[in-house]
Amino acid sequence: MSATESTNGFDPVLHDVSMHLVGPNEPVEGTVVTNELCMRGKSASFVRHIEIDVSGTPLEGGFRAGQAFGVVPEGVDEHGKPHKVRLYSIASPTHGEDGRGGILSTTCKRLVDEYQPQGKAGEAPRNGLFLGVCSNYLCDLAVGSKVMVTGPAGKRFVLPQDHNRHDYVFLATGTGVAPFRGMVKDLFEGPDAPTSSQVHLIMGVPYLNDLLYDDFFRETAEKHENFHYHVAVSRERFADQHRVRSGYVHHYLTHAVELHEHLLRGDRTLLYICGLAGMQFGVFQMLAEHGMGDAYLKVKDEIAEVDPADWDAATIRRHVRPTHRCMLEVY
Ligand code: FAD
Ligand code: NAP
Repeated sequence: MSATESTNGFDPVLHDVSMHLVGPNEPVEGTVVTNELCMRGKSASFVRHIEIDVSGTPLEGGFRAGQAFGVVPEGVDEHGKPHKVRLYSIASPTHGEDGRGGILSTTCKRLVDEYQPQGKAGEAPRNGLFLGVCSNYLCDLAVGSKVMVTGPAGKRFVLPQDHNRHDYVFLATGTGVAPFRGMVKDLFEGPDAPTSSQVHLIMGVPYLNDLLYDDFFRETAEKHENFHYHVAVSRERFADQHRVRSGYVHHYLTHAVELHEHLLRGDRTLLYICGLAGMQFGVFQMLAEHGMGDAYLKVKDEIAEVDPADWDAATIRRHVRPTHRCMLEVY
């Protein structure tokens, strides 16, 4: 057995990464070079693909697809203190949007909510919209605007060093697809590309119009027969079509026999999950119920005898952990 082969198949040797080249207290200035909507159609959400030129800063050439960077919005909070940094997943490939690591990108969703009472003494009842500070700041920036950035952050949600040693199942909900845009570009357009591995992306959205980077993923699937693009749509009901189904990503997985038989049971497959906190519970339960848990999950002794069909979110949170073959980035 090689150094990276465990009883549960081949554990990945992940790419090395740099961390915190620019700290949150000393952000550097980037310049917005692109800011455009990236949904497939008209939607109640607004998600923008934003590219930032970080040339000449320590971030240039210092990030990898799958990591995040920080944005410090202008202005002060309600206590008069400078706004805190917010993290955004890097959506660009490791070589950047410009091919030399000078321009990074992200996929930013405007946070728009009704105003909620904050529980403060003497707070007057108030109707109106609450607009998230940083997401709207970033989405409002015009091309040419300066923006203060930090990072990179995150070291486990990255591709393995030898891309061809593994196959991949990427599970995304909403803007959780950001790192997968970069990884798919690394795998199919990077210096060692295209990969010979099988790569499946399962993208979960409320409506078809909410699909992000849909043209890019479709075109990549047309060009490369080893890239497979699947869509799970939660709020539209229709008869199942080729690689488009109603439901959540784990419902899609439950029915995708091609993924069960040929990929998830394979000993070299890596599972990456990014998006909504909570999406992992359905995925973990589905894997365990179908006898595919060993490769991706460590189940603690306390629930070893419990039927996975009876697991609930609290049980999973307490007693189930991902293995080295399962990368999780949810919040
Ligand atoms: P904030 O102003 O910080 O508001 C945050 C929350 O507080 C909201 O839920 C808001 O509704 C609530 N809130 C606060 N005050 C009120 C009030 N008065 N009334 C009602 N509600 C209130 N986001 C992306 O879009 N794309 C990404 O790729 C991405 N990647 C991320 C990667 C990581 C590793 C992490 C940790 C986060 C990522 N995020 C991403 C989320 C991002 O960091 C921000 O949390 C998000 O953009 C919201 O920030 P904001 O400043 O707009 O909202
Ligand atoms: P969105 O467009 O609302 O899509 C989310 C989809 O997931 C919807 O179809 C939703 O269905 C579905 N969903 C809800 N609960 C689910 C569950 N338990 N399991 C599986 N699917 C479920 O997404 P969004 O607003 O962009 O939000 C994406 C989330 O990812 C946010 O929380 C964001 O902060 C996070 N994110 C994380 C990272 C990271 O960690 N690096 C990066 C980017 C984004 P219904 O709404 O119809 O129920």
